[in-house]
Amino acid sequence: MQTLDSTSMVIVGAGHCGGRAAQALRSTGWAGSIHLVGDEPHHPYERPPLSKELLTGSKTAEACALLTTDAMADLHITRHVARVTGIDAAARSIRLSDGQVLGYQSLLLATGGKVRTLTIPGGDLPEVLTLRGLGDAAALATRLAPGQRLLVVGGGFIGLEVAASARKLGCEVTVVEGAPRLMGRAVPEPVAELALALHRNQGVRVLLGASPERIERTADGVRMTLSDGSFIDADTVLTGIGIAPDLALAQSAGLAVARGVLVNAQLQTSQPGIFAAGDLVEFPSVLSGQPLRQETWHNAETQAAVAAQNMLGGDAAYASLPWFWSDQYDHQLQVMGEPALAASSATRALDDGGMLIFYLDTAHRLVGACGWGQSSRIAKELKLARTLVERRVTAAPDVLVDPATKLKALLSHAA
Ligand code: FAD
Repeated sequence: MQTLDSTSMVIVGAGHCGGRAAQALRSTGWAGSIHLVGDEPHHPYERPPLSKELLTGSKTAEACALLTTDAMADLHITRHVARVTGIDAAARSIRLSDGQVLGYQSLLLATGGKVRTLTIPGGDLPEVLTLRGLGDAAALATRLAPGQRLLVVGGGFIGLEVAASARKLGCEVTVVEGAPRLMGRAVPEPVAELALALHRNQGVRVLLGASPERIERTADGVRMTLSDGSFIDADTVLTGIGIAPDLALAQSAGLAVARGVLVNAQLQTSQPGIFAAGDLVEFPSVLSGQPLRQETWHNAETQAAVAAQNMLGGDAAYASLPWFWSDQYDHQLQVMGEPALAASSATRALDDGGMLIFYLDTAHRLVGACGWGQSSRIAKELKLARTLVERRVTAAPDVLVDPATKLKALLSHAA
């Protein structure tokens, strides 16, 4: 079956970014057809609750929806539950796994990333789970009950959030991390130390510098053997070792790729009429111009709006600074801007053991910040810090460190 309507807006990937882009096309005034193609059976939904409130039972799957069936109908979005298997950039059409061919005027690729899996022997046992979608969260939730033994592989955000949720549910939790510290990729060492202390205080056994070698079935669960010969017995293993964008579709259409699909500031790929956004893309940093890939809610949310404008012929440049949060127990972590670009840093102590680290360039302009502490106590400070970073405020390190200086007062130093 063919639907070669060359005036359609077509979105591949009905996840966070794809769903938001479909909404934005309508709110930007597009009255023509919108096709939203995704291989998950659900309408677009938000993933952050999957490792947090959904596991602990304080949120339902329905409450994670970005677009309900009614909203999809009201917006006249045509939904295809199918996988896109090919793009013909010259003919401006895509092929779906159900045999349909859809023509497009503009195409958005928002296919996110695929979870990495454990490649060790036993890594494919049914007790070894990953977490990316609603189905994964439902499968994991059924295995988290008081006394159940959960082994988390990977001390990154998702692994640690699941560890915290599982402790709240009364599970025995062990986290195995290969690096000498937690959250290595994106979080400064002092904050990672605070998070480590919190998890250990909450009863999580955290093993750093540990390397899983194999997993075997036992009489009552599974046993993971580490490279030093020690082992951990568990009922369930949750692998949280990151995602990788699936670049095959883009490559087959001749799009330029690196660590992600390469786009310019307008989120346009190397092929006319094809845009890409969300976890999938590498885009130029507004601070450095260097390619950046983000796997965050904020990135998916804000790039969707820019991509939609430009699909309709606009010339909007993506200029939002990176930002993400992670909730663990009653604590929150936030990272804003690009700490990696800093020439120096300044650390401010917050209430109740919390911490806020500011990152400055050589001219003492803020390029980033990272905050950690009890969610209820530090929310206001983190919001102000984010505004300071967004406004690229200039401030001397000793002023930033001093708790007597109100962060609000620094807003007038905006560039
Ligand atoms: P996705 O939301 O993954 O959507 C991509 C969609 O495309 C998927 O439905 C996929 O199945 C589909 N697809 C892929 N290939 C094809 C194809 N060929 N054909 C059709 N469909 C296809 N971020 C934060 O900032 N803070 C948090 O606390 C946080 N918590 C998270 C917790 C979990 C458990 C997870 C998984 C993510 C979390 N994130 C968080 C990250 C955030 O959810 C992602 O960055 C965001 O979902 C990315 O949106 P996306 O649209 O790019 O990708």
